[in-house]
Amino acid sequence: MTFKASDTALFDELNQRFADSSPREILTFAVEAFGNDLAMATGFGPSGVVLMHLASKVGVETIFYLDTGLFFPETYRLRDTLSEQLQIQFTRVTSELSLEDQEVEHGPSLWKTNSDHCCFIRKVLPLRNFLKDKKAWVTGLRRDQGRSRASTEIFSWDSANNLVKINPLAHWTSDEVWGYINIYDLPYNPLHDQGYPSVGCMPCTRAVAADEDVRAGRWAGQQKMECGIHLQSDSEFATASFVSLDTVVASIPEPEAPRTSWQQLWRGNMWGYWDAGRAYVESISTRPVYRKVA
Ligand code: SF4
Repeated sequence: MTFKASDTALFDELNQRFADSSPREILTFAVEAFGNDLAMATGFGPSGVVLMHLASKVGVETIFYLDTGLFFPETYRLRDTLSEQLQIQFTRVTSELSLEDQEVEHGPSLWKTNSDHCCFIRKVLPLRNFLKDKKAWVTGLRRDQGRSRASTEIFSWDSANNLVKINPLAHWTSDEVWGYINIYDLPYNPLHDQGYPSVGCMPCTRAVAADEDVRAGRWAGQQKMECGIHLQSDSEFATASFVSLDTVVASIPEPEAPRTSWQQLWRGNMWGYWDAGRAYVESISTRPVYRKVA
């Protein structure tokens, strides 16, 4: 099955049809519709554990993770346990820039000096490269994971990566996820029992107090709430960049060669390049948002 960004009526129809369906029913449909062109992402959080268990039952071929090289040892151990227990061969997706080269190019601890750019290098770009040959990807996003995720649809068009995005747990709650993990006695990250409701990279994750938001321990002390792989709308872009897209695009010099490397733009807050008459721009000032402009 092939979808386009303009298939809004089709997405509406699917979202209505599957509004009350179980995640397994949604995943089964996804496998039937996209076959080997479907890939499931996981960051080894509780939602990911549920989805992996379901994936092992309905036959999702590709399950991948974005390995920043900066996970907690507990996360890597959970990966190995899940691989053995659920018989999953994970696909490891990494940045082309090693941590050593990142330090040479951008200085030590880029996550402290410019966490948006660090996430862009270690997560957003590798994801974009990995998904370019796929038709759909599955994520564990849920509406109850905070304001930025409250309008998560089950089926949508991912304009940042140019493919269908499927969130089979969009309508589930945290309680339902943990209920599933307990019923099936599935493994999970032990850090969740030590005050870490949300676990990301080691340098950017801390434990939270009982009265704090579940994501308060991610990039604590910064405005940043998301790594960037789930941001893409015009409004998010405008909020992130504080300049109009036209202004940014007009500031990108079209090079003689059809494709150049990313160039720093707009007072250093943007990156962009031209390719075959299209401008590709990225905000790194507050939140990294990828946007493709005709
Ligand atoms: S979460 Fe932190 S360490 Fe991980 S890629 Fe983003 S900024 Fe870098």
